[in-house]
Amino acid sequence: MEITRTAVVKLSVPGDRRDDLKRTMNTFRDATQRFADRGWDGNDDGYVITSGNHLQRLVYDDIRDDTGLHADLTVAAADHAANALDGCVTKMKKGERTSKPVFTSNTTVYNTNAITYFDGYCSLAAYGGSRVHAEYVYPADSIQAEYMERDEWQKRGAKLRYDHETDTYYLHVSVKQEREEPSAEAENQTVLGVDRNVDGYLAVTSTGAFIGNADLLNHNRREYERRRARLHQQGTRSAHLTIQSIGDTFANWSEDFLHHASKELVNEAISHGCTTIVFEDLTNIRDRISNASKFQQWAFNELKRQVEYKANAEGIAVETVHPAYTSQRCSETGCGFTHADNRDGDGFVCQQCGKELHSDYNAARHIAHKYIQNRHTSGSGGATYHLALKSGTVNGNGEYSPSTV
Ligand SMILES: [Zn+2]
Repeated sequence: MEITRTAVVKLSVPGDRRDDLKRTMNTFRDATQRFADRGWDGNDDGYVITSGNHLQRLVYDDIRDDTGLHADLTVAAADHAANALDGCVTKMKKGERTSKPVFTSNTTVYNTNAITYFDGYCSLAAYGGSRVHAEYVYPADSIQAEYMERDEWQKRGAKLRYDHETDTYYLHVSVKQEREEPSAEAENQTVLGVDRNVDGYLAVTSTGAFIGNADLLNHNRREYERRRARLHQQGTRSAHLTIQSIGDTFANWSEDFLHHASKELVNEAISHGCTTIVFEDLTNIRDRISNASKFQQWAFNELKRQVEYKANAEGIAVETVHPAYTSQRCSETGCGFTHADNRDGDGFVCQQCGKELHSDYNAARHIAHKYIQNRHTSGSGGATYHLALKSGTVNGNGEYSPSTV
């Protein structure tokens, strides 16, 4: 399986090279526009051109001579224009309105020839064939550090963006890695159940860990939406650039927020000796939680994705179970009574056995329990499964073993 991510890294550019990068960016934009203009005019049959190679054949030499742009950046400009034109053609095919792409954003696209990554800094192709060296700026414990410094992430091309509000350059680096998925077939399995929520705590585990403030995530999202809506009404070019900039900042913050939550979750699994982490399958979460926004769905999926790659690196598998009734069902071994009255907000009181606990914690225990039962009924392997709890584990027959950790 291939995992791809974007690392958004703030750059420290030497004062005497900032103008070179800005000039490169402006030249790149002009070159991209010229490629797009040519592509929009179309080929001999009148069709819009959507191939970067085709655009290069037609006007590469003219554009390179006129603009003086670095050769690799000229190639990237042709591809960038071709992508935008392709988007227009897709719209036309669907019968939607579209118009010639106009490039206004402060972006330069660097393919792998135009950027070189070093420890702590990168070298960027710039105007007139020179290179600009810029240092990365990020905290040691950040998601950026993980993407940029760990060998398993292979760095590919990048986009350089200029944030005019803060007068800062940001590098958006595409990173990828190949992963083998660990199998959940080993002899002794210990299972951590995880319940995800749209408010309160983002994730609660069967071991009783309460992780990530979902209310803070929602609050910052609402603030961002409000600001964006105000700027959108202004409709100026400067407002447009600010929208782009606050969008980047929020995307960066939320990705980092989920990075820390997923790290905490995987550490919880490691410290309890878990071999498998189980989530509910929330592919169709909107059917179940009526007020779950698209953003919350994104956050749920992103949390799972981030847990997946961190867990897999530790040899821990990530699995899902069907979500029916997990919130109403008692997680007490041997009970399993399911009733809507069992749950009242954060509180869970089983109407049959009287078990009382936090309702998300109950759901997390039940998720793990459900996974173990599914494995038993499917008769997979001859593996023994244990459910990881606060102070020990319970096996499939309901026998409890106190924790040795
Ligand atoms: Zn019960």
